[in-house]
Amino acid sequence: MLQNDMLESWDRENFFHPSTHLAAFARGDAPQRVVTGGSGSYIEDREGNRLLDAFAGLYCVNVGYGRTEIAEAISAQAHELSYYHAYMGHGTEASITLAKMVLDRAPDHMSKVYFGLGGSDANETNVKMIWYYNNILGRAEKKKIISRWRGYHGSGLVSGSLTGLELFHRKFDLPLTQVLHTTAPYYFRREDRNQSEAQFVQQCVDDLEALIEREGADTIAAMIGEPVLGTGGIVPPPAGYWAAIQAVLDKHDILLIADEVVTGFGRLGSMFGSDHYGIKPDIMTIAKGLTSAYAPLSGSIFSDKMWKVLEQGTDEFGPIGHGWTYSAHPIGAAAGVANLNLVDSMGLVENAGNMGQYLRDGLTDALGGHINVGDIRGDGMLAAVELMADVDAHRFFDADDKITYQIVAAMAEDGVIARAMPQGDILGFAPPLSLSREEVDEIVSKTAKAVTEVLG
Ligand code: PLP
Repeated sequence: MLQNDMLESWDRENFFHPSTHLAAFARGDAPQRVVTGGSGSYIEDREGNRLLDAFAGLYCVNVGYGRTEIAEAISAQAHELSYYHAYMGHGTEASITLAKMVLDRAPDHMSKVYFGLGGSDANETNVKMIWYYNNILGRAEKKKIISRWRGYHGSGLVSGSLTGLELFHRKFDLPLTQVLHTTAPYYFRREDRNQSEAQFVQQCVDDLEALIEREGADTIAAMIGEPVLGTGGIVPPPAGYWAAIQAVLDKHDILLIADEVVTGFGRLGSMFGSDHYGIKPDIMTIAKGLTSAYAPLSGSIFSDKMWKVLEQGTDEFGPIGHGWTYSAHPIGAAAGVANLNLVDSMGLVENAGNMGQYLRDGLTDALGGHINVGDIRGDGMLAAVELMADVDAHRFFDADDKITYQIVAAMAEDGVIARAMPQGDILGFAPPLSLSREEVDEIVSKTAKAVTEVLG
């Protein structure tokens, strides 16, 4: 690789990077990495570093890097037919096949999948279809959407509003007024330290009921939630949470969107988080693991119940006024077909469950007794280590100390990528589902080393 060309300075001068401190990056004060290659669980950069990617990009490269089966499927599709649109009944072999593969894997009551490009636009589609649905049913007032604090659902106008993280709202005039937020199902950070897990679930239910009561059920269309809170801190739900929430929604005729962008296609050791936790959604959002990020593609899967009303709407008002040029892009769809075949042939759903458990056990053995480790949690191939200034007093570090950023930087120096989750001192892990035992051991030992280096 050339070291003496202009790439680094072109990057600082021209490139608006997402989720980056723009000024510091342009000044040259924020880190930069030019990534050049990837194979299995590892990436390489221009400096010649080889790093074990324990966050699979942005929890998306589920099958690992460099899988030739997917690269070849993309290449073949580009040669045969690089693009055709999906409007007015057009399809391709890849998009039609992928729709069937998705529905074959989804819960039985799901009916059709709409393909977009990423999780954010899929959630925009979902809200539009929910508004349409209630208009067709003559319920013009039933439009508000409930989300949870710490939920992550994207960064568009509606999807960014659904996201319950301050960074994604501040100075953007978000959230929009149609979006309401309720309590995060985050037992470790409950306000009342004396609450049992069951009492805390009841608190979440009571808070939701109170919000619905305050706003009026006839103004609330849907609730959205990730089966496991992801970007908000990698927090599995407390036992019984989903059943209790679903009962409230059913009682008030409020739809449920399961945002499965992270949990879909095996990350929890089950095909979907909805299967894993017994959720019965009206819509499922899928992206990341659909193609393992070999090409951009997302989907919104609609239930039979919703689909019937959408059909009724087009019988009454004509074709649905919704579509992107790149909906169901054949290259994305070809990547999706090859990716889902690989998930099956490599046994990745099962491996995610087994290696994920081994990872959490390893982190617990190595760090469970550390004076600053408050919680080690996760499910399937998702894990988090939450750090605290004082565990006994339940006191968190000052955000300005940037403790987790220091640990993540020390780990990267040592060849492992973990993620400093954006709100709180939480080290996040979401490796490829193809992770091996040796790779788990490397993640665990280098995490423990970096925690000790930074915190003693
Ligand atoms: N939903 C969830 C649960 C996510 O984790 C993400 C992204 O991380 C999104 C939606 C948004 O997806 P995208 O970044 O592809 O727009």
